Amino acid sequence: MKRLLILMLILSQSGLFAQQLERHNKVLKLMGSRFEITAIHEDSQVAWDAINAGIAEIQRIERLISSWDPNSQTSEVIRQAGMAPVQVDQELFDLIKRAIQISKITDGAFDISYASMDRIWKFDGSMKEMPDAETVALAASRIDYHKIILNEAERTVLLKDKGMKIGFGAIGKGYAAQKAKEVMSSLGIKNGVVNASGDLIAWGHDERGQVFEVGIADPKNIQQVLSWLQVENTSVVTSGDYERYVMFDNKRYAHIIDPRTGYPTTGIKSVTIITANPELADALSTSVFVLGVDQGLELVNQLPGVECLIITDQDQIKTSQNLTLNNKS
Ligand code: AMP
Ligand code: MG
Repeated sequence: MKRLLILMLILSQSGLFAQQLERHNKVLKLMGSRFEITAIHEDSQVAWDAINAGIAEIQRIERLISSWDPNSQTSEVIRQAGMAPVQVDQELFDLIKRAIQISKITDGAFDISYASMDRIWKFDGSMKEMPDAETVALAASRIDYHKIILNEAERTVLLKDKGMKIGFGAIGKGYAAQKAKEVMSSLGIKNGVVNASGDLIAWGHDERGQVFEVGIADPKNIQQVLSWLQVENTSVVTSGDYERYVMFDNKRYAHIIDPRTGYPTTGIKSVTIITANPELADALSTSVFVLGVDQGLELVNQLPGVECLIITDQDQIKTSQNLTLNNKS
């Protein structure tokens, strides 16, 4: 009898009596980007309910913050620029408030009012020549986060000048990834990944109980992994879409605008930020692009719990103080 008991104990510990964890995932287009949502759970019904709830959450956020959807609250704020404050949901109000905080810590490198430049630069290959300097200067003069006026008591947003716009291209996917993770966790998913085109949050472990790993692409050959990062309850966000840039006079302009000049940034191919919250990671990855290698790393090195990997135009790799790379590929 005693022997049998011991055997049972060993079997249950070896997982033979437990149900197997399984990976379930869905790839789809949300917020104009490729999302991959993964839930690891022994019950496929639980996994799929959570995946679908995560998707619904991202769609809900998109309807609130999209500046392309004429029915969103963001679009109404833009329509009323220079005219009237617009009352918005607390959620949008808070997102704008956090975006302004990032503008403050980056000295304006990150600025959601960059969006007044939206129609001037195109990064889809359709631009054949530089826009003229006057057009750039006029649009750039409208970028200024100090002119996004928030009224806490009324919960309103006013863009002070006519022609001002805001856009959440550099922070929205990270925010949506975090919210989708929260919804999935509340439905019992202890292990999962939300990957929004390179804005990734992973929690728990994979189906074999191992830590998730993310490969950082080698800039010289993006099919190859340069380094593996272990992601244990953290997020890894990369800015620097290898396909979205324009070339003028042999110079590569990224799809990120320097608010000080109105011109796209140069010098950096990609920035990866590693930190717990994907919204912060998203905003900082864009900010470091604008700040450049030296100022960008200086900022990151001051922020506790934030690490950074930069690939320059010359394919040099620069990292923040506490990041060690694991080149086992
Ligand atoms: P990401 O891929 O997260 O770096 O976001 C890039 C997107 O952020 C761009 O496609 C724009 O929509 C937006 N953006 C560009 N420049 C800025 C900036 N200086 N501050 C905030 N958002 C920006
Ligand atoms: Mg970003």
